[in-house]
Amino acid sequence: MVLAACFLCGSLVGCGSQAVWQEAPAGQVVEIPTPTPTSVPTPAETPSLADAVQQVAEAMLPSEPEEAEATPTDAPALPEIDLESPMVALTFDDGPLSGSTDRILNILEQNGVVATFFIQGKQAALYPELVARAYGLGCQIGNHTYNHKDLTALNDQDALQQIESVNELVMQITGAGCSLVRPPHGKGWRDSRVLELVTYPLIMWSIDTKDWSTRNPTKTIAAVLDVVKDGDIILMHDVYTETADAAEKIIPELIARGYKLVTVSEMFSYKGLELSAGHAYRHAG
Ligand SMILES: [Zn+2]
Repeated sequence: MVLAACFLCGSLVGCGSQAVWQEAPAGQVVEIPTPTPTSVPTPAETPSLADAVQQVAEAMLPSEPEEAEATPTDAPALPEIDLESPMVALTFDDGPLSGSTDRILNILEQNGVVATFFIQGKQAALYPELVARAYGLGCQIGNHTYNHKDLTALNDQDALQQIESVNELVMQITGAGCSLVRPPHGKGWRDSRVLELVTYPLIMWSIDTKDWSTRNPTKTIAAVLDVVKDGDIILMHDVYTETADAAEKIIPELIARGYKLVTVSEMFSYKGLELSAGHAYRHAG
């Protein structure tokens, strides 16, 4: 086993929502501004937490049975798998969104595999049933802040509010909070203040499909299948139909190649690796 590294001083090809990061030859990272995609939230879109929770409560079916005891999101009994098999964690950011997220959940369900969804709180408030469905399928629900905020640009109180409000909302929906955070815009994972402030591991990625930029299923498929290896964390966004198109090809092909598709926390657990607050991770092993 190779211990998970803290990537505080590494380089990264970054989150695709407002900027694309390119790795310079010298190993430094250069930020290149790109147009803001439609999924980036605006303050006007932001419901209050009370409104969001109310929406969730209204959305939940009265007949839905309540669990007698809440089960921690990330501490279920691990399914038995062949640990010699390669494994990867598909991660989907920015959702949920009606239409595309449903399709991705259908693909996962049909293939009997799971993924990790790093949700925006404001989207979860709009589509709590999708969060509930993902959780019910065994997927992991991760925290991508309430309004897709750059944590490095917020004061401590606002940054914590962006994270804890999502945890409260997910707790309302699933009965369990999030144990992982993916900071929006790829920012904060090398910021000592953010790393100290956020009391959850920060999860980055080793494969950036740039699906948000290309909106091209063929390119997204190639971005994964041409380079995938054991321990990869793969970044996609479940708010695009083209990403759902790509997932329909990627998931069966990974399975055909012998990969186990697991959540981020499962992958680290299977590999005997720790996930610790104050650290950022972009692959397992
Ligand atoms: Zn994002």
